[in-house]
Amino acid sequence: MYRGRYAPSPTGPLHLGNALAAAVAFRRARGGAFVLRVEDLDRPRCVPGMVERQLEDLRWLGITWSEGPFFQSERSYDAAIAALFAAGRAYYCTCSRKQIAAVSAPHGPADDGPRYPGTCRGRIEKPSGRYAVRFLVEPGVVRVDDALQGPFEQDVDASVGDFVIARADGVVAYQLAVVADDIAMQMTEVVRGGDLLYSTPRQIQLFEALGAAPPAFAHTPLVVAEKDGTKLSKRDGGHTLEGLRARGVDGPALRDRMAALGSEKRATIALDEII
Ligand code: GLU
Ligand code: ZN
Repeated sequence: MYRGRYAPSPTGPLHLGNALAAAVAFRRARGGAFVLRVEDLDRPRCVPGMVERQLEDLRWLGITWSEGPFFQSERSYDAAIAALFAAGRAYYCTCSRKQIAAVSAPHGPADDGPRYPGTCRGRIEKPSGRYAVRFLVEPGVVRVDDALQGPFEQDVDASVGDFVIARADGVVAYQLAVVADDIAMQMTEVVRGGDLLYSTPRQIQLFEALGAAPPAFAHTPLVVAEKDGTKLSKRDGGHTLEGLRARGVDGPALRDRMAALGSEKRATIALDEII
């Protein structure tokens, strides 16, 4: 049976870009299970009251879920991290940002910092001071056959390097939490915004290291402010769902329009194509 999910982060009001992914995820899960999972691990970035506002937005769109909401802040990722240590795929890292920047050139399109050169590889004794936990990546190209974006390839080792799975401030990193949950919740397909395609090869390596078959992936087109234009940001205030609702827009009609547009195999959709 198809099992899908929508996994918003309660860091700001939902805008059209988020809603597009939600609408496509909801449509693809028709006839199967649809899980709502709130990604609220990064407490400092979460806005109080935002979960309720986002759920209200989803209800207004007529997007309903069959399981959840689950909250990542109420879940534990210790077992996943322990499993990676046991498999020799995790290690402690005490490098500062400055140290990493000094030995490594900046990489790739996503701004998650310079490639980590593996300085602390093999460090499996817990350090006494501050430390992060990194995932030991395998060299070689990882291929994603995305249902909407087509084939995408990345050599995680060459472009990202061993990445953080538990931050020095104790917060479990998005990459690990999302994979541990997608395994635990038995997702058959992951639908989300196209900006996360770049994270997918990392996550595929994590699925495999945790002994799970990766799900299928469908990354929705990015909603941009203008045709050849700029990325829509949370600051584009008028395009929040709350703003659209206040203007009297019909929620389910908007959902259906977004589901149709977002199911097209394309990289971007301009705002004025939606409304
Ligand atoms: N929490 C992420 C977001 O709000 C989605 C993560 C995912 O679906 O894997 O964009
Ligand atoms: Zn290090």
